[in-house]
Amino acid sequence: MLKIYANPVIQEIHANWISDGVKLFLKREDLLHPYVSGNKWRKLHLNLEKAISLGAKTLVTFGGAFSNHIYATAAAAEEAGIESVGIIRGEETAVSNPTLQFAASRGMTFHFVDRKSYRDKTILQKELLHRWPHSYFLPEGGTNCLAIEGCVGIVNEEVAAMDVVAVPVGTGGTLAGILKAMPRETQVLGFSALKALFIQKDIETLLTSCNLEPVTSWSIITDAHVGGYGKINTQLIDFIREFKEEQGVLLDPIYTGKMMFHIKKMMSEKYFKPGSRVCAIHTGGLQGWGGMALRFGIDLRE
Ligand SMILES: *Cc1c(COP(=O)(O)O)cnc(C)c1O
Repeated sequence: MLKIYANPVIQEIHANWISDGVKLFLKREDLLHPYVSGNKWRKLHLNLEKAISLGAKTLVTFGGAFSNHIYATAAAAEEAGIESVGIIRGEETAVSNPTLQFAASRGMTFHFVDRKSYRDKTILQKELLHRWPHSYFLPEGGTNCLAIEGCVGIVNEEVAAMDVVAVPVGTGGTLAGILKAMPRETQVLGFSALKALFIQKDIETLLTSCNLEPVTSWSIITDAHVGGYGKINTQLIDFIREFKEEQGVLLDPIYTGKMMFHIKKMMSEKYFKPGSRVCAIHTGGLQGWGGMALRFGIDLRE
């Protein structure tokens, strides 16, 4: 359904901040696709198949004006040959940003709604179905049970053999897929990109609603968000720049950069036991630098 551009290889990270006896790996899900990057490819492909098999004409989804999900959905829908509509939280003026410009170039139609109507999804969906009949709805961030099923594909044999798996968390859909796939008792750590209070509970609810009972232990790291969703500081940016120079891998500023920055901190606190093999998932999201360029003039893609 969606093209795969390159295999998401696992590479070992060699850095002077890795604790003695610990091995750190990075699974390059970011390589899967240049536009439907990382976990968004995993979350979208089964949903696209389903939408098309149901005969849907339009894929309708939700997001903020800088959303990786909106960007990826526009590209994925175009590739799959289905129309896409993005319900965007906020003012129409946001259309001048690079995320929405890209999505528009892939044929996505936008519908802007104020924050209050955005929150009340039941009323909104009724209106939308009226305007776009025969549509397939994907929630914000693209997380539903099928998206979780798609994320099961992140865990190959190599990942399943790790002692610790680290993954960034927005809605927790990607984490849930990894939890579903881990075949034995290990440790899965979700690094929350949001300063959210109930994230652990929310993910438990998500797991229950998709009938999942993971066999592995898992927990959410709640202090890796660097001040909140989309917030950055100099130390984070310096770390991402250094990581790129040393490893030849660019991390994104919203999710994977914060996760890896926090893993470095955990290494300095000797969090990981000697002998453990830790695998972080590069979930992609590099288009997020476009928003950083616009807001702060920082773009490490260059
Ligand atoms: C969307 C996104 C996430 C969050 O995924 P969830 O399934 O919502 O937790 C993590 N990393 C990147 C790069 C993303 O774009």
